[in-house]
Amino acid sequence: MSSKLKILVPVKRVIDYAIKPRINKTQTGVQKTGVKFSINPFCDIAVEEAVRIREANKGAVESIHAVSIGPTKAQDVLRTSLAKGVDSSTLIDVGDAEVEPLVVAKLLRKIVERQQSNLIILGKQAIDDDSNQTGQMLAGLLGWPQATNASKVVVQGDVVTVTREVDGGAETISAQLPLIITTDLRLNEPRYATLPNMMKAKKKPLEKLTAADLEVEIQNRLEILKVEEPAARSAGVKVANVDELIAKLQAAKAL
Ligand code: AMP
Repeated sequence: MSSKLKILVPVKRVIDYAIKPRINKTQTGVQKTGVKFSINPFCDIAVEEAVRIREANKGAVESIHAVSIGPTKAQDVLRTSLAKGVDSSTLIDVGDAEVEPLVVAKLLRKIVERQQSNLIILGKQAIDDDSNQTGQMLAGLLGWPQATNASKVVVQGDVVTVTREVDGGAETISAQLPLIITTDLRLNEPRYATLPNMMKAKKKPLEKLTAADLEVEIQNRLEILKVEEPAARSAGVKVANVDELIAKLQAAKAL
C-alpha cells in the first residue's frame, strides 16, 4: 500500500521580481523600505505544483503545508499560498534577521519532523540571494534523495518521476518517497489567488513560531563586505551600413 502524501512547501518573501532593487547607502544590501514584496516566483511554482499533484491524484494527498522564515509580514506570502490551495501554514518569525540557507535548512528540518512530511517542494532559488542551496542542504540534513530543477513531476504511488532541465536537454529520473524536489521556471504556470479564496484563506491555520521554539540558533557564517550596482554601460554608436560597421570594428582592432 502506498503512503499518503504529506507535502511541505517552503515559501520565501522577496522583493517583487518586477522591481529593480536599489543598493542601500551603506552598500551592505538592497533598500527594503517602501518596496513591494511578493512570494518568490520559484516558490509560487512549488505551491502550484503541490496543488496540481493533489488535483491529479485524487485522494493521494493528505496535506499541503507551507512554511516561511522571515519577518512578521511574511504572513502575506503564506496567506496567498493558503488561498491557492495550501491547507495549513507556519511562520517562523526571525524579524529582520538575514538567514543563510544552512540555517533555513535546519529550521525546515524541524518543520519536516513536526509535519511528518514525505515530499518537499522548494523553489530552485530565491531571487534575492540567488543561493540555490536550501533544497540541496535540506536533502543532505535529512539524508533524502533530491530531484533539482524539475520541469515535470509525475507521482505514482510511492514513486515520483521527475524530468530535470539540464544543459541542452532533459533528464528523467525517479525516486521513492521521501523526496525533495526543487522547481524550475517551466514546471507550470501558477494560478492567481482569487479574492473569495483570499477571504477563505483567512480562516485557514497559520501557526507562529520562533527559531528558539525550534531550538535552532540563527548563526550566519558569511559577512557581506560590499554590494555594488553593475558598472554602467557606455553608450553605443549607430552605424549607417555594413561598410561603416567594418571600418569601426577595424579601428577598434576588433577585426
Ligand atoms: P535559496 O537556496 O536561498 O536560493 O532558496 C531556495 C528555496 O529554498 C526557495 O525557493 C524556498 O523554497 C526555500 N527558502 C529559502 N529561504 C527561505 C525562507 N526564508 N523561508 C522559506 N523558504 C525558504
